[in-house]
Amino acid sequence: MVEEITVPDDKPVSGFEEYEPLPDEPYYAKTIKGGESWIAIQPYCPVCSKTLSYDRNSNMVRTKWSIDKKDYVFDLRYNIDEETGDKYVVCNKCRYDFRTPVEDARQKYGSGSKKKPVKKKSRFEADQLLSTNIEFIKNGTFADGFFLMSVDEFKRVITKSYETKGGITPIISYGGTKYTITIPQMMTFYKEIEQENEVLVGIPRIYWKQTAL
Ligand SMILES: [Zn+2]
Repeated sequence: MVEEITVPDDKPVSGFEEYEPLPDEPYYAKTIKGGESWIAIQPYCPVCSKTLSYDRNSNMVRTKWSIDKKDYVFDLRYNIDEETGDKYVVCNKCRYDFRTPVEDARQKYGSGSKKKPVKKKSRFEADQLLSTNIEFIKNGTFADGFFLMSVDEFKRVITKSYETKGGITPIISYGGTKYTITIPQMMTFYKEIEQENEVLVGIPRIYWKQTAL
């Protein structure tokens, strides 16, 4: 049995329940050339939120120039993994499991497959799935709670994930240990970090998992 927890606890309930609006909205408006773009400050679903567009010039999928409020899907919940007892995040709208690479997710949970129940994979199957298309991040380092890489390396890995059928599993090797992350997490939580006059891309350590791959 899968235990489900609704997050966050103080989320307002719509419909027939009493409704109390949240004091803070999950996004804020950023003024851009020609209008405004809404920046999310709460986790959102990277699969069914409409925040990306394909840029022909750079041949890359990137964040849209202008994001509308309604582009975001914030309807997430926690599930508990029956085997490990770990909490993981699932999208209520498209059922995307945040532990899954984004391309797999788009095939599994994307449009047209919304009605299908999600069958849980055994850990062995999940390992097999994970071991496909491993992509090593070159010259990765660690500082102040962030795994760091060059901007070019970040772009290369993201581009590769969109070009590879079934997506990729990014792995960073640091101090003799390997860590993995999903592409949606990389794209959602990355930050530009300046270190010794060089701009690097950093993703917080908490989103990486140790792996034996
Ligand atoms: Zn979703």
